[in-house]
Amino acid sequence: MVSYKKLGLVNTKKMFAKAVKGGYAIPAFNFNTMEQMQAIIQAAVETKSPVIMQVSKGARKYANPTILRYMAEGAVQYAKELGCKKPQIVLHLDHGDSYETCKSCIDSGFSSVMIDGSSLPFKENIKLTKKVVNYAHKHDVTVEAELGVLAGVEDEVSAAESHYTKPEEVVEFATKTGCDSLAISIGTSHGAYKFTAAQCTRDPKTGKLVPPPLAFDVLKAIEKKLPGFPIVLHGSSSVPQDCVDTINKFGGKLPDAVGIPEEQLRKAAKSAVCKINIDSDSRLAMTAAIRKHFAEHPDHFDPRQYLTPAREAMKEMYIHKIVKVLGSNNKL
Ligand SMILES: [Zn+2]
Repeated sequence: MVSYKKLGLVNTKKMFAKAVKGGYAIPAFNFNTMEQMQAIIQAAVETKSPVIMQVSKGARKYANPTILRYMAEGAVQYAKELGCKKPQIVLHLDHGDSYETCKSCIDSGFSSVMIDGSSLPFKENIKLTKKVVNYAHKHDVTVEAELGVLAGVEDEVSAAESHYTKPEEVVEFATKTGCDSLAISIGTSHGAYKFTAAQCTRDPKTGKLVPPPLAFDVLKAIEKKLPGFPIVLHGSSSVPQDCVDTINKFGGKLPDAVGIPEEQLRKAAKSAVCKINIDSDSRLAMTAAIRKHFAEHPDHFDPRQYLTPAREAMKEMYIHKIVKVLGSNNKL
């Protein structure tokens, strides 16, 4: 058993309470590579922002869970080396699919876990979430649960269609499970293809898809039922069109990739939404930089040559999100 406290990590409790009061959201960036981790920490330190580094099932499979945990420990030390005296870094399990996975993460140094029982019937979701909460809270680890279904594909999480969270269920769910935060479904979606062309309208000038707006009425109704309770938005990449255009210009093929407009996320961050998950945007920034680099330097073969601009592009994207979308800068 390794406690996250020994690794210098923190749980989400105080962080979320402050964010809800302050009308901003904490960035939750997924990572699986060293370059992503470095970019996340550089961005968080430069902007003086708390940050959640999260690990999906796919990331655990790709990088190995032990390595990821040591990377998070390294991230804390790296932040200090970069001049941040008291970094606030959470190591969070994204979409935990069973009690066993959550337990093994808690035992190996995660400070926060998500148990995703959203595909289960309501009562079973409560039962599973409560089981995880009981174990996690013994170790001062915070738990995110999910109610409602998000559409889209992310690693091994996928659903064909979304079902908005039912506001009338949230009080019973939060009370019976004791979860610390709640991921809800209000129209965000996993992946770089969040919406089909049929769900969108098309901008007559650019020909780009314009996605349907988020269901702010559902968010409002949930906030009314659970005042001040930390709400989480998954699937909140914006799929920056400059990245998509660069990828397509240099040999890629991502037609009609579309995300959540940043002004909608900004609006959500000002409410009880206090954690916003961003994964695809980092993948897109990295891929765009690498494709461009290879097109301009066909003779390069040293990974450092193309991963340096890729890391820089991710860092810029993270800083942009922190300062212009979530508002978590200067909140340490
Ligand atoms: Zn998710």
